[in-house]
Amino acid sequence: MYDNNNVFAKIARGEIPCDAIVENEFALSFYDINPMFEKHVLVIPRGPYMNILDFTANAPAAAQAGFWECFRKTAEKLGIENNFNILANAGADAPFFKQSVFHFHLHLVSGARRPECLKLMEQACK
Ligand code: AMP
Repeated sequence: MYDNNNVFAKIARGEIPCDAIVENEFALSFYDINPMFEKHVLVIPRGPYMNILDFTANAPAAAQAGFWECFRKTAEKLGIENNFNILANAGADAPFFKQSVFHFHLHLVSGARRPECLKLMEQACK
């Protein structure tokens, strides 16, 4: 069940601040508060979707197009469009990295790993 009071829902409604990069009617991107890479940002839809399956199954076509436009413009604005990874965690019991905020988001990362990242990878691979 989607929780309207999750932290990204509040960011999407403008109720709590974020370090925004790109915004449009359907989506926004902002810097992750706990970056694991030199560049680590999150792209979220404004609408209430729990994870990637919920979003791709249930968001209207315009919202999905708006999301991907925001994604592309974010990568271009950061100058990372030729060198990046994306990560979408789904579920509190996902095997590698676990989802902690239940509002669909893509992690868009690039550049050098931070020490925190290596620690997290070690834990994930145990
Ligand atoms: P996940 O584990 O995939 O659900 O990732 C959630 C991400 O959201 C983590 O990388 C957190 O550091 C990040 N995060 C949590 N709260 C905020 C916030 N207020 N602003 C920016 N990033 C956040």
